[in-house]
Amino acid sequence: MSHGTKSDDCDLCEAAKITHWFHEDDICWIAECEVCDTPMVVWRWHGTEPDSVELAHMQSALARVAESVFDGHYVDDNMRNIPDHYHAHARPAGGFFGHGRRKDKGGPRRP
Ligand SMILES: [Zn+2]
Ligand SMILES: [Zn+2]
Repeated sequence: MSHGTKSDDCDLCEAAKITHWFHEDDICWIAECEVCDTPMVVWRWHGTEPDSVELAHMQSALARVAESVFDGHYVDDNMRNIPDHYHAHARPAGGFFGHGRRKDKGGPRRP
């Protein structure tokens, strides 16, 4: 692996624990997105090209967290706000932006 850099002025590199953290390991961390209120996986390193092993690791870690939060989800890896640091959001399937059901917050469940 050729990466290993971090950027001083990147919010994702800073990895401030200002919201709930679901998961962290050597490759990524998963926290609640401050903006969207959904789980978001963030690569440990500054850049946009995690290798395929890391990508698969992050996707499965995010899926595991998302399954505990949503009844169905999809992964949104469109990096609108921070385009130079890989991250992806889990969003509720069929839900609107930021308005999904949350199992872990006592929201309504499907019958
Ligand atoms: Zn977000
Ligand atoms: Zn960064």
